[in-house]
Amino acid sequence: MTKSVFYEDAYLTRIDATVTAVDGELIEFDRTIFYPMGGGQPGDTGFVTGNDGAKHRIIDTRKGGTPGSIVHQLDTTEHGIGVGDPLTLEIDWDRRYLLMKMHTGMHLLGSLIPVGVTGGAVGEDKSRLDFDLGEHQVDKESLTRELNRLVEEAHDVVIESIEEAELDTNPDLVRTMSVQPPRGAGTIRMVRIRDVDYQPCGGTHLRNTREIGAMRVAKIENKGRRNRRFHLVLSDEA
Ligand SMILES: [Zn+2]
Repeated sequence: MTKSVFYEDAYLTRIDATVTAVDGELIEFDRTIFYPMGGGQPGDTGFVTGNDGAKHRIIDTRKGGTPGSIVHQLDTTEHGIGVGDPLTLEIDWDRRYLLMKMHTGMHLLGSLIPVGVTGGAVGEDKSRLDFDLGEHQVDKESLTRELNRLVEEAHDVVIESIEEAELDTNPDLVRTMSVQPPRGAGTIRMVRIRDVDYQPCGGTHLRNTREIGAMRVAKIENKGRRNRRFHLVLSDEA
């Protein structure tokens, strides 16, 4: 079991942790700020540094084989790290912050298109979100204008939780048609963008939509009779 500190504070860039398992280039710690790939968001990358000053690259982060465990993949098996070692973890913050901007922006896009979401992927350069659009009419210029209005309105983003039973009685809160939030813990993590969006989500988010800066719908792609793929990029020219 790894303590998921990124859920308490998505802005922590560095943390001390103790090694709990080593398997070749794969390392587990008692706690981490590295987000493991999931929910369309890629795993974090960064560095781990030992007391001896030796610094190793972490090239990916995934969920481990046991529930709640998180595995950090180093770029080498020749790291000399052992169970019990106290180490310092540091994420590639520039990349993670881009992913947080993109991820939060995808919530905004979802709020503007009131139909089911069929898929999505967050990337630092571009992101995509698929919708079961049907007869719904959209165009990328007006969507881009609306997106940037929501950015400039500076909506706070807060993390809440609800009981699983409460979600069961409000199934419309789940926007994704194919993926249901993980069950079994009794409560579900909810992300609220005040006055804009409210849905279950396990990713990392900004504190305020203003931090996105500017965002653009770069392309709307035809993916079948009803499905449309929306490509999002961060842009300086709003
Ligand atoms: Zn989210």
